[in-house]
Amino acid sequence: MTTRYAILPAHPGAHIFQVTVEIDDPDPLGQRYVLPAWIPGSYMIRDFARNLVRVRALTTAGARVRIAKTDKHTWHCAPIPAGQSLTLAYEVYAYDLSVRAAHLDTTHGYFNGASVFLLPVGRERDACRVDIFAPRERRLRDWRVATGLQPARGTTAGAFGTYLAANYDELIDCPVEMGSFVEQTFAVEGVPHSITVTGRVARLDAERLARDLALVCATHARLFEPRTRRPPFDRYAFLTMAVDSGYGGLEHRNSTSLLCQRDDLPHVGMKSATEAYRRFLGLASHEYFHAWNVKRIKPAAFVPYDLTRENYTPLLWLFEGFTSYYDDLGLRRAGLLTPDQYLGELAATITAVSQRSGRRKQSLAESSFDAWIKYYKPDENAPNSIVSYYQKGALVAAGLDLSIRSASGGRRSLDDLMRLLWRRFKAAGADYSGVTEEELAPAIREATGVDVSRTLRAWTRETADPDFITLLQPFGVVAERGPALESAHFAMLGCRLAAGPDGRISQVFDGSPAQEAGLSAGDQIVALDGLRAGGSRLDTVLARYASGDRVEILAFRRDELLRMEVVLASQPPVKWKLAVDAKSGVRARRLRTGWLGPA
Ligand SMILES: [Zn+2]
Repeated sequence: MTTRYAILPAHPGAHIFQVTVEIDDPDPLGQRYVLPAWIPGSYMIRDFARNLVRVRALTTAGARVRIAKTDKHTWHCAPIPAGQSLTLAYEVYAYDLSVRAAHLDTTHGYFNGASVFLLPVGRERDACRVDIFAPRERRLRDWRVATGLQPARGTTAGAFGTYLAANYDELIDCPVEMGSFVEQTFAVEGVPHSITVTGRVARLDAERLARDLALVCATHARLFEPRTRRPPFDRYAFLTMAVDSGYGGLEHRNSTSLLCQRDDLPHVGMKSATEAYRRFLGLASHEYFHAWNVKRIKPAAFVPYDLTRENYTPLLWLFEGFTSYYDDLGLRRAGLLTPDQYLGELAATITAVSQRSGRRKQSLAESSFDAWIKYYKPDENAPNSIVSYYQKGALVAAGLDLSIRSASGGRRSLDDLMRLLWRRFKAAGADYSGVTEEELAPAIREATGVDVSRTLRAWTRETADPDFITLLQPFGVVAERGPALESAHFAMLGCRLAAGPDGRISQVFDGSPAQEAGLSAGDQIVALDGLRAGGSRLDTVLARYASGDRVEILAFRRDELLRMEVVLASQPPVKWKLAVDAKSGVRARRLRTGWLGPA
């Protein structure tokens, strides 16, 4: 049986999609429908049902059917006569400009099925068909469609019409973009790929974008399938939304949604890649790697997903952290970063992790497990209480890769683990049960011959950090610590200021002079030793002082003026630098080339 959906951008000005879902032979006891509470890849309860409006139910004969809600995201229809089909019709308010839900206005439409398509309970495995209608407004008639969904016979790819999915899970894994976007196509081992860019971007160099992405995609496909070099899908779509400010991506099995700033994208005539463009390529690389790591190779807790509630796993560091390690490494392997640029990125990650005392209080397994209430809901205390399973997870991946390469004389690497997990996924087929924490260390030993069980436990179940001075030494890469001096208030007071002219404190770091003096998040520093020092002036004023100096700070807490004494930091936070040792010997050079490719 097929579940038949239809979606119409009915009222772009009011941000309303109209949706229907029709099934034959509904549950004789009364059909129930449910909407996901979260979207895979973004580990937070989002309650998409809050945007559903005017839900009605009708039989084929046009009779209204009584419908009632039984919890926040479940609807229950009254029984209907046998032999009739049941149609639910509703509106979705779509005004979330992110990669996670749905957005519709007069410039474009975008939706994730998880936020718009009700699932008829019991029909999880049924095939799905969705009619995607064009907007009725004449001025929007140049809109087209981009999606990973398969066009049905009679529908041309890129056109409005009928699209197919094998089941509900696949349906909601294929976001849809509609608008008058720029599109560029390329192929990876004959598999068609496309990138679409919605949003105005002056002199966009779409050809360069496609050329660079093709290199990244081929690099990842080669890692998992060294023989065929073929990615595991028939088509792939990068759906990109360019905005004034914003950044993010969400992975899917044969597509990804990306949100970036206009200036991140390359323009015609741009010579070398800007840092912003490299960051965009890193994001695309990250989401594409996920097509293997998390969309196919999965933690056991996600097989299958339960979209009505939190799905707890201690392994997000493996799925997000390893993917973060391979996103930049993939750019390096594709020739889009130099070895020095790559080492700069790795050093920045080591620095970011080392500057947060949360790494001493939370393990990666705990951070993964609590993502739903901590990482996805960070507050001002996050640096002091949370370790990022992205950043420290990437460092664990790097630490493992370096350990395996050193121990095996460069013959084995973390790539061998990824390929083993990939082979197990393919071999299991429909019986795939996901990856458990317990099987990881044995899997690494099987794939590489190297026993990392103790280190792995210390880095992920306990709060130990990989020691990059020792890990990088055999590779002829020197890791050095120096003071972090980017901003005087961070180096000398140990706090961060929120963006904006009034310079309120956004975060106070553990053990910092600011914390010792009693400065708190939300406070607004106005004077230092009797001189105005609010907002952007603070760093200028602070620059005349030295570490260990005692200064008087005036700050507003809400509307109350406070006077405090602060002793400026004698030891500023640490910043890491990684550099190739020009004098390194043959063995080190060989190991380094195996890891980072030729210089
Ligand atoms: Zn990710």
